[in-house]
Amino acid sequence: MSAITLINPADESVIRDVEHSTIEQVDAAVAAASVAQRSWAALAPVERARALRRFAATVGEHVEELAALEVVNSGHPIGQARWEAGHVRDVLDYYSGSPERMLGQQIPVAGGLDVTFHEPIGVVGVIVPWNFPMTIASWGFAPALAAGNAVVLKPAEWTPLTAMRLAELALEAGLPEHLFQVLPGKGSVVGERFVTHEDVRKIVFTGSTATGKRVMAGAAEQVKAVTLELGGKSANVVFADADLEKAAATAPYAVFENAGQDCCARSRILVQRSVYDRFLELLEPAVRGVAVGDPNAETTEMGPLVSAEHHAKVASYLDGADVAFRGTAPDGPGYWFAPTVVLPRSRTDRVVTEEVFGPMVAVLPFDDEADAIALANDSIYGLSGSIFTRDLGRALRVARGVQSGNLSVNSHSSVRYATPFGGFKQSGLGRELGPDAPFAFTETKNVFLSTE
Ligand code: NAD
Repeated sequence: MSAITLINPADESVIRDVEHSTIEQVDAAVAAASVAQRSWAALAPVERARALRRFAATVGEHVEELAALEVVNSGHPIGQARWEAGHVRDVLDYYSGSPERMLGQQIPVAGGLDVTFHEPIGVVGVIVPWNFPMTIASWGFAPALAAGNAVVLKPAEWTPLTAMRLAELALEAGLPEHLFQVLPGKGSVVGERFVTHEDVRKIVFTGSTATGKRVMAGAAEQVKAVTLELGGKSANVVFADADLEKAAATAPYAVFENAGQDCCARSRILVQRSVYDRFLELLEPAVRGVAVGDPNAETTEMGPLVSAEHHAKVASYLDGADVAFRGTAPDGPGYWFAPTVVLPRSRTDRVVTEEVFGPMVAVLPFDDEADAIALANDSIYGLSGSIFTRDLGRALRVARGVQSGNLSVNSHSSVRYATPFGGFKQSGLGRELGPDAPFAFTETKNVFLSTE
């Protein structure tokens, strides 16, 4: 059996070893999950609702502990990590309302009564990346459980600790044994087994577009359902009529939060040419003002990158790049990378087209509204984006024109658990969160009762 040694990204100290699950362990977990799922689905909806509320409350009692784990394992600033743990509680609370509200339809037909049921799929496999380990896990497991499924979940190799603790908290809260199991391990072993196992009937995958395509191709073998949340290269479009001070003050946080390791990072800032120079003047102090440092400090806004390997990947984008200015970062141990603003030479530079997934942003000029939309859409991705303008008509026209799943006007909001989230184009398939998420974990069954 193999294991991984986890490293604290802020100081490179060893945290602990975590054993990787084997294929045999995955198979045993899926077999136990199948049994647990049948009893769970047979419970009265109000009982499932109550169990999820208890799970939410237990997570709520452990927000500080979960946040502290994420600080150590992922280098997230403590304020952000607390928000993440609270978000898991809120996602569970929100979907605890679902079991009693999975309404079917009664459809007018001749000769009888026609009704639809939303049947749980069975065992759902959730595969999670390392950038937001517990929040992204909850977007899969909470609505899946609410809809009557069992869940096997694989955290990312580097960041398994909060997901492992959540599985323990589920049991402490009284959720049935084997209903929600976390299996740390390799993508090529545990993740692939979720895809190939015949009793895992749906995969929720969040991660890179390359791995997502592989998961989707594997799922096709068994016509298995997939939800994919993949990469992004989102645009923050700033028009000349915008509140430039606000746009410049907020732009760093739209890309440098979580050290840029955010699928929704607005890593391309598109600025109308007439205000391009002025915007850069305003952006510089805002970037230098981002508080980068000790994740345990309450005032820290940005921590380190997650690992040495990822640091090397992000740093490779500095090769040949024209750096306009950078913020600060601590010296010494830890995978630190200062916020970096790059001025590309062309619209096809690597830093413009590829997802850096680090604290690096490219600022590009555009000419008019049509050019802004064309440039925003000139990407294989389409996850999120922001539009800064005082002209509401333009804001709506551009929001409708940009091929992205989540747009935000005069702000940078992307993820609210009560609203749907997901990508266009190669940013993904399907939607998570929002009121309809549990239905993505069901099969619609139509039943006709003859009255003749
Ligand atoms: P990754 O694709 O390397 O890994 C994601 C997960 O898939 C990990 O748990 C990994 O172990 C597993 N995996 C690897 N190979 C596998 C395989 N062959 N079969 C099944 N599972 C496998 O991604 P990452 O580096 O962990 O995460 C960063 C990426 O995630 C970025 O591209 C980012 O944009 C994306 N992301 C997207 C969203 C979104 O909601 N759209 C959210 C967060 C992150």
